[in-house]
Amino acid sequence: MEFIKNIGEKAKDIGEKAREITKRSGELLEVTKMRYEINKLEKIMVNNIEALGELYYRKFKGEEELVPEIERLCQSTLAVEQDIQKLRQQIEKLMPKPALCSQCGKELPEEARYCPYCGTKITE
Ligand SMILES: [Zn+2]
Repeated sequence: MEFIKNIGEKAKDIGEKAREITKRSGELLEVTKMRYEINKLEKIMVNNIEALGELYYRKFKGEEELVPEIERLCQSTLAVEQDIQKLRQQIEKLMPKPALCSQCGKELPEEARYCPYCGTKITE
């Protein structure tokens, strides 16, 4: 019976590992989507700021009626900037920072057993 029990436990382990991988790749897909979104938002910001430059210059030359438009565009650019920031924070949560070598302080690859830079055995 011990033998069968062991197989059962192994299968359970594999199941958990697979779920972990599925969850991980799901998160990676999420991160990819968020990076794509950041890219789009950054383009919008560049466009907005360019438009703001033109509006501001026209106002400088006397088109005072552009003031509310400049204000509106500043507000929406600020909102876009905040969205980018939120997405960056979410990505940071999903992508934990790599562990550092206790000896040389360099970044360690995932699941490394020895530091590839100085050869220190990794205990954690
Ligand atoms: Zn090291």
